[in-house]
Amino acid sequence: MTTSLRLTLQNSLTRRKEVFEPADPARVTMYVCGPTVYNFAHIGNARPAVVFDVLARVLRRLYPHVVYARNITDIEDKIIAAAKEQGVEISAITDKYANIYRDDMGTLGVLPPDIEPKATETVPGMIAMLETLIANGHAYAADGHVLFNVPSYAEYGQLSGRDRDDMIAGARVEVAPYKKDPADFVLWKPSAPEQPGWDSPWGRGRPGWHIECSAMIEKHLGTTIDIHGGGIDLQFPHHENEIAQSNCAHGNAPLARFWLHNGFVNIEKEKMSKSIGNVLLVHDLIKEAPGEAIRLALLNGHYRQPLDWTADGLMQSRRMLDRLYGALRSLADVEAQANDAVPEAFLEALLDDLNTPKALAVLFDLAKQANTATDKAERARLKAALLGSGYLIGLLQADPESWFAGAGLAPHIDAEEIEGLIAARAAARKAKDFKESDRIRDELAGRGILIEDGPQGTTWRVAG
Ligand SMILES: [Zn+2]
Repeated sequence: MTTSLRLTLQNSLTRRKEVFEPADPARVTMYVCGPTVYNFAHIGNARPAVVFDVLARVLRRLYPHVVYARNITDIEDKIIAAAKEQGVEISAITDKYANIYRDDMGTLGVLPPDIEPKATETVPGMIAMLETLIANGHAYAADGHVLFNVPSYAEYGQLSGRDRDDMIAGARVEVAPYKKDPADFVLWKPSAPEQPGWDSPWGRGRPGWHIECSAMIEKHLGTTIDIHGGGIDLQFPHHENEIAQSNCAHGNAPLARFWLHNGFVNIEKEKMSKSIGNVLLVHDLIKEAPGEAIRLALLNGHYRQPLDWTADGLMQSRRMLDRLYGALRSLADVEAQANDAVPEAFLEALLDDLNTPKALAVLFDLAKQANTATDKAERARLKAALLGSGYLIGLLQADPESWFAGAGLAPHIDAEEIEGLIAARAAARKAKDFKESDRIRDELAGRGILIEDGPQGTTWRVAG
């Protein structure tokens, strides 16, 4: 790698942009706080999933072995409340929404993480960590609870830079007689008989949210990881508490060397909130727009900046993809040159703290060149550059024809499957099995796919 091709990342912990060097280049570790699975993910939840998917892709390009873990929080009071309200088992809620989350993020082109730990599978590790924290004086048991004693950790507040008054206000402390200090936070709490719980030295109970991530990181990635990511809304108190728990349980070994935070998503210049009624669910958005356009709209801004989500912006992203896929379609007659094709300018932009707006500008420049290039070798190079660069940010991997046929508009349509059905129909016709070929045509029609037989073979498009 040339010196210009070094990954630099803005580290929230040091408040500086730093050159990223993994502790062990043979095993690069990244953890991102995943969803609490009790309802649908909104567009603000999708942003970290997409942003850190891009970072994972970049890291995999730079290093041979990357372990990216994104957890599922499947024990939390909101889940318990949802299960009670709907009169179902906790697992009915968590399985349902974890699956919807995976599907919805998949529609946005988010690759599955390497590890997807679940909090409920990590409880023994949490209990062991609490025992360590109690033994070394950073936590105490009181009234069936275990609490972290914030004054016992002098560095508390290092990530968010908050002072003590802020912290107490930010922690939204309830009046709790068992707390030694108002800033102390819950690591374990008792469960009523009808609530889910695990046996522990402090009675039957369940973990607090913060300890879940610390224990999952310890179990799956190790004591000190390279990168910890999440939305800026998690910086305090969640990430601050993760640091306190892990550092104090691990003899002050840091939890993460780099902390990365993505900015908020606002909706049409307003804060997204239930009270305003402007919460946009990914599950609904993907019915109206291609997942790829939603992804591009999320990557149009730099990840650290607040992103203003607008209907116009989403429309613009669709048009941008039309242009990029248009360039790829114009290159349909050439084979992409196989060897490494990502232009240095594109890579440099991503390596500069994931500057996706700048990287997209390089992509559009490639598309522009593709539209005017006439030399075959040059066109093959440009095709490879578009595809290779697109892959790094999770775009442009669909067949241009199916994008324009509208497959990109309807996430339930799998272009490959449709091509397969069309091939099966052609085979049936050839064998003069018209009953079968009609059945396939009807099946396609039933799914809103119109086919047209012409001299060049069969083409298809989405009806309407
Ligand atoms: Zn977390």
